[in-house]
Amino acid sequence: MNSKSVFELILSGEIESEVIYEDDDVFAINDINPVARVHILVIPKKKIATINNLNDSDVNLVGKMIMVAKQLAYELGIDNTGYRLLFNTNDDAMQTVFHIHLHLIGGQKLKDI
Ligand code: 5GP
Repeated sequence: MNSKSVFELILSGEIESEVIYEDDDVFAINDINPVARVHILVIPKKKIATINNLNDSDVNLVGKMIMVAKQLAYELGIDNTGYRLLFNTNDDAMQTVFHIHLHLIGGQKLKDI
């Protein structure tokens, strides 16, 4: 069973969410449940369940996700004040959506994890 992830449903328009960045490989949305003033998810269009499922052929894709997050941080003016980039993986990290996504969190002083 290979059902669509919530992010694939957003990309196809079956679930509404403003796409704030998109290119051939990745897209970005505001998190529906933000933990800080800025909380964006940078998501590959290709569904990869967890970081554990990455292959060597995904190196450029993951690099691009980080570059997109960096650019969005710059555009939002939080590049110098700082931000956190985070991948949650599996239960201990409380991953809830099994389609990898990079959290870009900032816009305020962040507490320790
Ligand atoms: P995880 O816990 O898997 O690292 O993060 C999943 C994130 O996706 C959560 O922060 C959650 O708020 C966000 N999320 C889940 N469903 C939706 C949705 O339908 N729309 C948006 N914009 N974010 C979602």
